Amino acid sequence: MTKDSRGKDPQNVWKKCLDIIKANISGDSFKTWFQPIKPVKITGNILTLQVPSQFFYEYLEEHYVGLLKKTIKKELGNDGRLEYSIIMDAYVKNDPYVIKVPASDRQTIKNAPVSMPYDVNRASIRNPFIIPGLKKVSIDPQLNHQYTFENFIEGDCNRLARAAGYAVAKNPGGTSFNPLFVYGGNGLGKTHLSHAIGIEVKKIFPDKTVLYVTSERFFNQFVEAVRNNAQNDFINFYQLIDVLIIDDVQFLSGKDKTQDVFFHVFNHLHQTRRQIILTSDKLPIELQGLEQRLISRFKWGLSADLQSPDLETRIAIIQNKLYLEGIEMPGDVIDHLAHHINTNVTDLLGALVSLIAQSTLNRKAITLDLAKQMVERYIKNSVKEVSIDYIQKVVCEYFDLPMDILKSQTRKREVVQARQLAMYFSKNMTRASLAAIGQLCGGKDHATVLHACRTVNNLIDTNKEFKNYVVELERLIKL
Ligand code: ADP
Ligand code: MG
Repeated sequence: MTKDSRGKDPQNVWKKCLDIIKANISGDSFKTWFQPIKPVKITGNILTLQVPSQFFYEYLEEHYVGLLKKTIKKELGNDGRLEYSIIMDAYVKNDPYVIKVPASDRQTIKNAPVSMPYDVNRASIRNPFIIPGLKKVSIDPQLNHQYTFENFIEGDCNRLARAAGYAVAKNPGGTSFNPLFVYGGNGLGKTHLSHAIGIEVKKIFPDKTVLYVTSERFFNQFVEAVRNNAQNDFINFYQLIDVLIIDDVQFLSGKDKTQDVFFHVFNHLHQTRRQIILTSDKLPIELQGLEQRLISRFKWGLSADLQSPDLETRIAIIQNKLYLEGIEMPGDVIDHLAHHINTNVTDLLGALVSLIAQSTLNRKAITLDLAKQMVERYIKNSVKEVSIDYIQKVVCEYFDLPMDILKSQTRKREVVQARQLAMYFSKNMTRASLAAIGQLCGGKDHATVLHACRTVNNLIDTNKEFKNYVVELERLIKL
């Protein structure tokens, strides 16, 4: 083991990091993802870690990059960094060899700033993405290059949406599918398909300006633009885009000012025959809290849905993923996974990934037995995902309150309490941010939601009757 000039021993440093990490994640995750890591060396302020596979590295970067960064900084100072060395799996490559990747590269790429094309006529327009002082040549479309059409397996569940997406990509702005509105539940491929369209457009028309943005990001940029008194710049920037992809538009519910500005941008793009692609977890008519004029715009083009994949599609999705990862798996194992995990593609891929991880780490072959154990555990652990909307509905029914009262500003005691309960359950049972929860529960801010959660927790501890409400409501929501 080498020591660096400052005499830091990688084993010791990593051991201290592990202590912090252990305290922050579940025992199972720790065992799976951190125990197999070996510290190799410290050079200056860079700690090099050896991980078992490329897949392992990507998993760490995707799920633990924040925790790792914080920990390393704590141990090696603010400029502390990580590097990985990867042992390629023996069954992927015959000669084990080591490649080096700087930590967090993927993250940097994902979050890279976008900037607008440099053009004298447009030079005065400020770009909402741009970091001041940074000059770049073109707008980064913010696309994930793994989300291609090739990797988007076709099935009955997605045929129309996929075909429409493809048609749009071949002739952006020129079909009647404008906007293309893709809707469907969580994990069914909305984000993937919308990226695929963007990637395909860039392939066929490299000069077209494509931009993928989540509606949350759109909202945040707008808020920022307002703060800087740069609303016109914001609008002008968006009016430059040829193919605008806005993911998860349901997030704009209740955000009236952002909807206004979006309406403006939408009209301009549509009139100038630019392509708009929208995704949502609901149909346009079901989007509560969205202005009618916007909803009617959404209905102008084509609405296409994504459904849960059927068995054949699930098998094809698994096979494609295995092919991409360069991993082989017995047919009966694939069948078992595809038969039992039938909720959505995210769950299916999640289960597959856990299975591969298990086998890689324990150096065990992927057998039907291993798959059975894993599926059983996976199904047991996967809690039903509920939406804030659904939580509000259950709470309203329980207290016999109309939904619009719950979402109103009223301070009547019984309404306040129901609202606080809805916030509390939304915090505990969904992955929504405090700000998003507040927004959907009467346009409150994140501090109000935090306060609501504290109040409910206090009442649970001190008031038995209240506690019974909470238990009963939780049961109803989980039904
Ligand atoms: P959504 O945006 O609808 O929640 P995503 O687009 O994020 O869903 O998809 C979840 C995961 O499932 C992603 O990893 C995506 O690549 C994968 N996926 C979804 N649909 C398909 C499909 N038809 N073929 C291959 N992978 C898919
Ligand atoms: Mg998505």
